[in-house]
Amino acid sequence: MSTAIESLREQTRGEVLTADDAGYDEARAVYNAMHDRHPLGVVRCMDAADVIAAVGFGRENGLDLAVRGGGHSVPGFGTSDGGLVIDLSPMRNVQVDPAGSVARVGGGAVLGDLDHATHAFGLATTGGVISTTGVSGLTLGGGIGYLARRHGLSCDNLLSADVVTADGRLLTASERQNEDLFWALRGGGGNFGVVTSLEFQLHPVGEIVGGPIFFELDAAADVMRAYRDYIAKAPEELGAFFCFQIAPPLPFIPEDRHGDTLCALVTCWTGPPAEADTVLEPLRSAGPIVAEHVGPMPYPALNSAFDGLLPAGLQHYWKADFVKELTDDAIDAHFEHGPKVPCVQSTMHMYPINGAVHRVGSDETAFAYRDVDFACVIAGMWPDPADTEANTQWVREYYAAIHPHSGTDGGYVNFMGSDDEDRVAANYGGNYERLAKIKAIYDPDNLFHLNQNIQPAK
Ligand SMILES: Cc1cc2nc3c(=O)[nH]c(=O)nc-3n(C[C@H](O)[C@H](O)[C@H](O)COP(=O)(O)OP(=O)(O)OC[C@H]3O[C@@H](n4cnc5c(N)ncnc54)[C@H](O)[C@@H]3O)c2cc1C
Repeated sequence: MSTAIESLREQTRGEVLTADDAGYDEARAVYNAMHDRHPLGVVRCMDAADVIAAVGFGRENGLDLAVRGGGHSVPGFGTSDGGLVIDLSPMRNVQVDPAGSVARVGGGAVLGDLDHATHAFGLATTGGVISTTGVSGLTLGGGIGYLARRHGLSCDNLLSADVVTADGRLLTASERQNEDLFWALRGGGGNFGVVTSLEFQLHPVGEIVGGPIFFELDAAADVMRAYRDYIAKAPEELGAFFCFQIAPPLPFIPEDRHGDTLCALVTCWTGPPAEADTVLEPLRSAGPIVAEHVGPMPYPALNSAFDGLLPAGLQHYWKADFVKELTDDAIDAHFEHGPKVPCVQSTMHMYPINGAVHRVGSDETAFAYRDVDFACVIAGMWPDPADTEANTQWVREYYAAIHPHSGTDGGYVNFMGSDDEDRVAANYGGNYERLAKIKAIYDPDNLFHLNQNIQPAK
């Protein structure tokens, strides 16, 4: 194999790192420290030509191919034992066309790269709530963030993507070219090839008014109910998610409350700043406030506000559900388990699925769950491996309590953990069969299988 690796090195501009090379340990590491794997090689792709060479090498040598953008996959899909990692992290360039309100984004860019480049022009598009998450991985699964109620999911803002397919071709997918592939990329995950660049619709979003409001834990059920009722009809310029959160030692939280378990609403208002207080009032009055840090700030500041809490190298164990209707019984179950959150990084987030996300039909893109009210994730995230049992147990028991109330079988593919393989078909909902047919066209041998895997239709 070493001769073959040499031939791959000759074909690529980016480095190919194996166990004999300095930097291998850094190159093989992914965000979730639970996946301490040893791939045969990591190809740090500089361009689409490198990706084509790596895909061809993996295919011809029968290697497991792991495609890595930002490396945030909780099940550790961005690495493998003995396989080949196609690492796109050198491809982070973002080009903005301010006149056309469009950004072209490299396949390895993270959300912070996209926010930074677009904010200079007072523009943005929907992304997640942590700036180190990969744009590609997030968008291919859907992409839920503060702007989704107003502007749709990240995948709803995708205009085109360049994709290296299993046979080594570079295809452009859009509404006009390879339409079936374009449909599948918007929610079908990394199943269809390696995305080398993405083109996004941008929107005028510059300064926002937002930040977290922390409430007394005793009021959590009332706060959740008020959030549920208000976010269904609030102006779409408001993004907000509910969470259970141990108070971190931040200056705006009274020192004697640091370490207390609280609940919080994290808000983002992109409408006229003068209207922010009126719009936020129904949330602020949902319960007794312990602390808040809501104010005007650049959109990228909110999108990176929690990065410090969640550095690379924590252990992650997550479970997720789409929620058809957040019933009072479900809220009781949340109120029983949320307050037991074991550490400051672990949390439960409840994101709204409504507004612009509902205006796209369930079969218009591969993201099927357009008719639910929320996406819920119980995210165990902890620094010390000695706490693995406590955190995984909390996630499992919490999930077991709320799942019967969710009204759906599936969860958001990007929030799925490592041991939910039996839920994959349900996670793609009514679109699974069509996805399997498209998989059979573009990846009939399932070369790209380290993902929320869709089996090619027979
Ligand atoms: C701390 C944290 C916060 C998060 N917050 C949010 C959030 O606010 N909203 C949200 O929607 N999701 C969120 N997520 C989930 C996130 O969307 C997924 O973990 C996503 O898969 C991450 O993409 P990545 O590129 O960073 O991951 P990677 O591990 O690099 O890749 C994950 C998957 O995406 C595929 N993939 C990645 N890049 C490419 C590419 N260029 N071409 C083809 N396939 C590719 C891979 O096949 C792999 O299956 C969060 C995750 C974490 C860990």
